Amino acid sequence: MKIQLRDITMRFDNVTAVDRLNVTIEEGTLVSLLGPSGCGKSTTLFMLAGLYQPTEGELYFGERLVNKVEPENREIGMVFQNYALYPHLTVLKNIMFPLKMAKVPKKEAEERAREMAALVQIDHLLDRKPSQLSGGQQQRVAIARALVKKPKLLLLDEPLSNLDARLRLEMREEIRRIQQEVGITTIFVTHDQEEAMSISDKVLLMKDGKGQQFSPPQDMYDYPENQFVAQFMGNPPINLLSVKLGNDLQTIVLPDTEDTYQLDSLVKSYVDSNSKLELGVRPEDFYIESDLAKAGITVEVMMVERIGRDNLLYARLGQTNLRAIVSPDVKVNQGERVKLAIRPGRTHLFDRSNGQNLL
Ligand code: ATP
Repeated sequence: MKIQLRDITMRFDNVTAVDRLNVTIEEGTLVSLLGPSGCGKSTTLFMLAGLYQPTEGELYFGERLVNKVEPENREIGMVFQNYALYPHLTVLKNIMFPLKMAKVPKKEAEERAREMAALVQIDHLLDRKPSQLSGGQQQRVAIARALVKKPKLLLLDEPLSNLDARLRLEMREEIRRIQQEVGITTIFVTHDQEEAMSISDKVLLMKDGKGQQFSPPQDMYDYPENQFVAQFMGNPPINLLSVKLGNDLQTIVLPDTEDTYQLDSLVKSYVDSNSKLELGVRPEDFYIESDLAKAGITVEVMMVERIGRDNLLYARLGQTNLRAIVSPDVKVNQGERVKLAIRPGRTHLFDRSNGQNLL
């Protein structure tokens, strides 16, 4: 089912938890709501679930306006952070529960519950109680129970946050597999950017109740629309250098030096030469330029750390610390000065007054 949020706003007294959100979620896709604590993810999910009614705006499920539709009439399935399984019921009975409420005949309900249990691969645990299951198994039961009525939208509220690191990896792959097998439109709340990157067709990144960017995860990483997006995505984080722009709109004046760097494209919108700008470069988009005649940023190497196949270089330009992930084939030593160049098309330039990416 296609989901549309049009100018959706949610206010509690004097707090605007969600501020004019505009998003269209295509049928059958998995979208993550991502952002720091308090950005409005759960409030958005609760509006989708029908637990809150938006203060303003329209929410459409398919062609149907659902602002005032009760949760039980929305054809949604939901999995909460703590799974909310019934402790006194067996796995089978837990999965059958929504069908029992809907007065589906027992035989049919059991058949459908068994089918769901097979889908989430817990058909060998049907007689156990929730307390006799691992965290990952409980999660599977919760997913089966959310899907058993064949909803048109699945809502997942930080479903992996109670699992240890290894299980989290396993379960996020499982959620993606199950989602694709069923083909259900799914909205997944998380504050973990790596989780959102790995599982989603598209990510909605939020801050202070406002949508910052809605894109496929790789686009969000490669083409951040503003500085917040650029800083939120990526680990180690993007490097930022305070710079000024020359009159030709292509030459950058670097901090603490008179050094300049030539951008490989012109800025998109006009900025005057007094504007405070931040040059943004991801650590892996630097490389060491050994040809002294070519463009580069001359830095002092503070430390070199081996990380797997690559070297992580800690460097300094005046007061600014930089991190660069570079090939270990080029030998560099602490205290040495090296020239870092930026891969073509990989430079970002943010206007500090509003954070917009100018490239
Ligand atoms: P977290 O990751 O910590 O769960 P979140 O992104 O899900 O955060 P929300 O829970 O949606 O954020 O909260 C968004 C803002 O709205 C916060 O400032 C929060 O304090 C406020 N808020 C949420 N629910 C209510 C409420 N019922 N009454 C008043 N303020 C609320």
